[in-house]
Amino acid sequence: PTRPLEGRVALVTGASSGIGEATAVALAQAGAAVAVGARRADRLADLAARLRAEGTRVLELDLDVTDPQACTDAVARTRAELGGLDVLVNNAGVMLLGTIVGADPEDWRRMIDTNVLGLMHMTHAAIEGMVEQGSGDVVNVSSVAGRQARKGAGVYNASKWAVNAFSESLRQEVTTRGVRIGLVEPGAVATELTDHITQPEAKAASKRMAQEMTPLQSDDIARAVVYMVSQPRHVAVNEVLVRPTDQE
Ligand code: NDP
Repeated sequence: PTRPLEGRVALVTGASSGIGEATAVALAQAGAAVAVGARRADRLADLAARLRAEGTRVLELDLDVTDPQACTDAVARTRAELGGLDVLVNNAGVMLLGTIVGADPEDWRRMIDTNVLGLMHMTHAAIEGMVEQGSGDVVNVSSVAGRQARKGAGVYNASKWAVNAFSESLRQEVTTRGVRIGLVEPGAVATELTDHITQPEAKAASKRMAQEMTPLQSDDIARAVVYMVSQPRHVAVNEVLVRPTDQE
């Protein structure tokens, strides 16, 4: 079918740019109604207008995933206003690369709060209802950095390692109750992610690295997410690792 997600409701965190935005578009094109969450309301409004023009039912969520109450409210509003929640894509994240020696621990707090605790709070808010309805998908956006630790990425690595461990534990807990837990692990994708790095050398190094290859585009990852959640219910694509072909 060209619209395999017709009748389903998806919620995407970090939908105001990059992979999250592309994923919201791809899910909508596959037929889902989509709730889009992030902090930049203006960006969400633009996205929502584009999706509505294509006939998609859209809900904009003012969402900071580091606020547990905001996570609970986002899920509740999605269920109330879009009529359910079948697919949660935990995509919101920050990558504040840098050495451990000389790091600003505020970077660490932001990464753990967003990439780890934020993802956990969103999952917590959504998972009980999915278990009760006996179906659902949670797709967690991890990274190659969740499988390969590198000098200069220590705490980002730690945050994505945590995502992988949490996902596998949760998978074992809920998979026999019809809820699929999937992990998507991108390599380098051309997005705004590196713009927020605070250590100047780390920022320069990551921009250099991006120029040495043909990076993925956000839609390359969005297609992987749609692939995962469009499978027949007895097929659980647990993990998808996608790198640019020329990334070592
Ligand atoms: P972007 O910076 O373009 O997107 C990040 C998104 O996360 C934005 O929409 C941002 O929205 C949102 N976000 C950040 N903090 C919060 C918060 N506290 N609450 C809610 N939303 C938040 O980068 P990407 O698209 O590249 O990143 C998306 C995910 O992909 C991340 O988890 C990242 O780790 C992962 N990833 C990216 C790779 C890459 O090379 N680009 C490689 C591997 C993984 P706003 O600021 O409006 O809140």
